[in-house]
Amino acid sequence: MSDAGDYSILNTARAILCEGAICDHCLGRQFAKLSTGMTNRERGHTIRLMLEMIASTGADVSEPESERAKRGRCWVCNGLFEELDTWVSRGLEALGGCEYESFLVGTRLSGLLSENEELLWEIVGTDYAEPLKSELNREVGKRIAEKTNRSVDFTKPDVVAILDLTKEMVRLQIRSVYICSRYKKLVRGIPQTRWSCRTCRGRGCEECGFTGQMSVESVEELVATDVIEAMSAVDIVFHGAGREDVDARMLGDGRPFVIEVKEPRKRSIDLARLEQEINEHCEGKIVVSDLRFVDREMVRRLKSKRHDKVYLATVSCAGVDQDTLVRALDDITGMIRQRTPSRVVHRRADLVRERKVYSVLLESFSVDCAVIRIECEAGLYVKELISGDDGRTMPSLAGAVGADMVVTALDVVAIKDQVGESYSSNSH
Ligand SMILES: [Zn+2]
Ligand SMILES: [Zn+2]
Repeated sequence: MSDAGDYSILNTARAILCEGAICDHCLGRQFAKLSTGMTNRERGHTIRLMLEMIASTGADVSEPESERAKRGRCWVCNGLFEELDTWVSRGLEALGGCEYESFLVGTRLSGLLSENEELLWEIVGTDYAEPLKSELNREVGKRIAEKTNRSVDFTKPDVVAILDLTKEMVRLQIRSVYICSRYKKLVRGIPQTRWSCRTCRGRGCEECGFTGQMSVESVEELVATDVIEAMSAVDIVFHGAGREDVDARMLGDGRPFVIEVKEPRKRSIDLARLEQEINEHCEGKIVVSDLRFVDREMVRRLKSKRHDKVYLATVSCAGVDQDTLVRALDDITGMIRQRTPSRVVHRRADLVRERKVYSVLLESFSVDCAVIRIECEAGLYVKELISGDDGRTMPSLAGAVGADMVVTALDVVAIKDQVGESYSSNSH
């Protein structure tokens, strides 16, 4: 180091000490970038010793540090670094009720301390300095790691302990857990996710008892109860790979979905047991299967995939004979032009889409009712493929037969991914 460098560091250190009482942590932290393998406290202590030695040789003409300045409470951190153990205990207490393998400490600085730090930096500059926050995070983190035998993780900690200096408390930010599964819906009338109240659109009104929600039980709520209890979580978010109509059943292998578990205090639970609990509690309504832990990334993958479907549609067809019906099925195989159905046009853009019907088969036929198996591209509206929706869907079964036709019951029996393979846990 050059002489100029020596002087500049010592002069800076003297300038800092002239500002008032300062602890070794805060003094050393202003030179944190100059040496490694030393804590700020050791660094500050060393600098103080050096200045004292220089002063005692008489070579230093500046005022030695006054006794008051040495003993008083540090004006920069206001004594915070003397309370490290208090913050460690607060952190341990907050983390106590939480299951985690890795953690991180963060700090919410008080206005006073950030002002103090800025004031100091205006005087002495920030060339070699480390922010107060990062020293506090590191020092508290180190101690918690020692006491808990858990590791500090800077990129993806299970939990972040936030030291809130103003409120003198530690808050936890617990990382969500993601569970992938599939559901079957055995009965009609269950929506996939929570339904906002039609009257108030979720704001809460008399109609919905100020819950903002319709009183209909959804797949999301059915699953939520057991997941929230098993993982001591605050809430869940339900991400489905598309959704079926409320009045359609979801059969076959079920529909893939991901549960985002918010603020779980337990993370490593027995998923086979959870699956059993959900299925017992939801018996006769829904069945879940293949529960497994996944990454957050899975939500994006699930949402971005467009799944081809196989449906079984029960169609009322009074007055139509079987041969006419079977011939008409050929006419609705291939490319279908669909304008947004009149039943959903109030909430979706009025567009014309082209979707493919891969195959249509007559499964069963009676005098006034037929069951038809339809394999089609993602996004095709099956009810309108049958009814024609007043000419908005072309071609349609009603149009091909020349009579009114309507779907009286609809089931999704298979959900396939883009390449046509059945979506299963083995395909990933
Ligand atoms: Zn200090
Ligand atoms: Zn309402």
